Amino acid sequence: MIRTVALIVPCFNEEEVLPVFYETIKQVIDGLPQYSFTLLFVNDGSKDGTLPILKSLAEQDERVRYLSFSRNFGKESAMYAGFCNADADAVAVMDADLQDPPGLLPEMLGILENEPYDSVATRRVNREGEPPVRSFFAHRFYHLINRISDADVVDGARDFRLMKREMVEAIVAMSEYNRFSKGIFGWVGFRTKWLPYRNIERAAGKTKWSFWGLFKYSIDGIVNFSQAPLSIASFTGLFSMIIAFIMVLFVIIRRMIFGDPVAGWASTICIILFIGGLQLMCMGIIGQYLAKTYMETKNRPHFIISETNCEKPVRIH
Ligand code: UDP
Ligand code: MG
Repeated sequence: MIRTVALIVPCFNEEEVLPVFYETIKQVIDGLPQYSFTLLFVNDGSKDGTLPILKSLAEQDERVRYLSFSRNFGKESAMYAGFCNADADAVAVMDADLQDPPGLLPEMLGILENEPYDSVATRRVNREGEPPVRSFFAHRFYHLINRISDADVVDGARDFRLMKREMVEAIVAMSEYNRFSKGIFGWVGFRTKWLPYRNIERAAGKTKWSFWGLFKYSIDGIVNFSQAPLSIASFTGLFSMIIAFIMVLFVIIRRMIFGDPVAGWASTICIILFIGGLQLMCMGIIGQYLAKTYMETKNRPHFIISETNCEKPVRIH
């Protein structure tokens, strides 16, 4: 039985779109009087008028709660803060820019209540309005991460999903510092129904993701959920060692048959360079994992909340 629903909305410099978002979501939730809703906005260290807007919304509407971070911690931390502070029967994450259609909510709630699922997730079936290079790399990324990790990440999956309490608790329990939510949602399991929808462009404001930012995020995703790069590094090392051994045999035998004219300087340098590069690359891969381990062992909080109107907030976690 679902009575209470919390919608987590991470906001980073969203002053342009927040009023539109609020009006849209208000219409949707006013149409669902059987549930009691909380709009849990997480202000992720915005530098614009986001916080004042949230405060005035909270004054107008008692369903509005806000958590305001002491600085920008990133969307992953904002979502985590939302999960830690949402105590509803069902919880959903939703972007502030209306790219996650609020109109899907009634259907999602219906599914969660009447069908044997623990979560309802959404995925985009097209990527119109996105640069083609970005779409190409996005598709490659999903293909790769599904092959080499046990987090099953659906191509086009959004963070927009509605989950039952049990699943939210499992997500809160995954307190790793390096968070990749798409992987975490898949990793915790539970029965998930996927709703496809056509891409919608941002209602206002601009995206916070640069190509480079997304690239780093995808590397994080792979390193967080797969040890395959480490195995690949070891196997390439082993493979080049075997090749080198065969080459040594070849050189020795040639020396015994033909003597030793000085030749092959160029090829020697090539090989040295190749092996040097390979070693650096493998060290880099190990370094990535080491860096993650380093951050995990520090046990730093994921977020610090400086201001909120929640009653018993989890301020630091
Ligand atoms: N966001 C955030 N912290 C950040 C970056 C983004 O809370 O450091 C929020 C942002 O306000 C929005 C959501 O995450 O609600 C998705 O961001 P955006 O629309 O820029 O990403 P895109 O839809 O382009 O992937
Ligand atoms: Mg967006």
